[in-house]
Amino acid sequence: MDKNWSEMNKEMQALLSKEATFPEGIKKLFALRKSLFEQITQIVAAFPAEAFYQMPFAGAEGYHAKTLSYSIWHIFRIEDIVAHEMIAGDQQVLFSQGFLKAIHSPLITTGNELSGGEIAEFSKQLNLQALYRYAQEVMQSTNQILMNLNFSGLKRKFGEDMIEKLRRTGCVSDADSASWLIDYWCGKDVLGLIRMPFSRHWIMHIEAMQRIKNKLCKLARKGVDPIAPCGFSCNHCFLSAWCGSCRTAYNACSFATASPDGKCPNAACCQEKGMDGCYDCGLLEKCEKGFYSPSNDGANAAKAQALYIHQHGKKEFLKAQDRLHEKYDFAKTQEILGQDYKEGLRILEES
Ligand code: SF4
Ligand code: SF4
Repeated sequence: MDKNWSEMNKEMQALLSKEATFPEGIKKLFALRKSLFEQITQIVAAFPAEAFYQMPFAGAEGYHAKTLSYSIWHIFRIEDIVAHEMIAGDQQVLFSQGFLKAIHSPLITTGNELSGGEIAEFSKQLNLQALYRYAQEVMQSTNQILMNLNFSGLKRKFGEDMIEKLRRTGCVSDADSASWLIDYWCGKDVLGLIRMPFSRHWIMHIEAMQRIKNKLCKLARKGVDPIAPCGFSCNHCFLSAWCGSCRTAYNACSFATASPDGKCPNAACCQEKGMDGCYDCGLLEKCEKGFYSPSNDGANAAKAQALYIHQHGKKEFLKAQDRLHEKYDFAKTQEILGQDYKEGLRILEES
């Protein structure tokens, strides 16, 4: 488990277990949920629609064997059912504000009953933006419910009547792979529900989503030129767990995602000029476009690398990058290539 999330989870559980620290525990829970939800936001913002129904770990055991869309649906369907049917006793978010229709889901269940190809097929049908809005709304409405809880309410238990009520909603499939959920939830008190559907369950599925998106990026880069038009090496990029290269649909380079058309200005300019990369351009040294903007802290490093490629070729450049990484411990190339492109070029040549 991610060290930071694991720590926050432990602290939150300890704080919630005592009346004096309960309000602080709720705050910690919100902070954990916020941090986890940011991962979902970034994934939804960065990846192409097709990424959300791919199963790069199909057949494996574990949550990473699902899709990104399924994971979002599953986390928030469970939370919606538990928060509204069990704790608040009011209407689920899915059945309000037209969410069910907007998401285009053929199901109202948690999806536990689906397997293999069914998960991929189901995921293809979902409207991602509506699903994301639903997830946001569920998170916020649960936070509201949690804010109104008091310490004594944590010990509230659920009996046969709740089991019956949950069965009647039809929100949990009768299939063996799903029906156990109702007994599982009803075997817990409110504190137990906070500890699983509202926190740990998120961690497990969001970590699985990270594995899925890392793998999708890796697969996208397979067989693709690892040199970005600006001169950076995708093979050595600190963003490689998020970006599948600006030469693919999995382009999550910061300049591309910040551009209104989702295209990096350097890549677009190269395309217009019919060039493979800025390393082929006579205007390189003086260029201030996109990645080479003076305000970008990676501008000089990118330029130094593009100049190196221009003079020595891509193969030599990748070897120089390998040598730099062997010699120094760094994440961002600009940490080593400095803030002067001529100096950066010299460092690469002497590596
Ligand atoms: S951010 Fe740029 S260098 Fe890094 S992986 Fe993406 S395209 Fe490649
Ligand atoms: S003008 Fe600048 S962005 Fe365009 S190809 Fe030349 S170096 Fe690249």
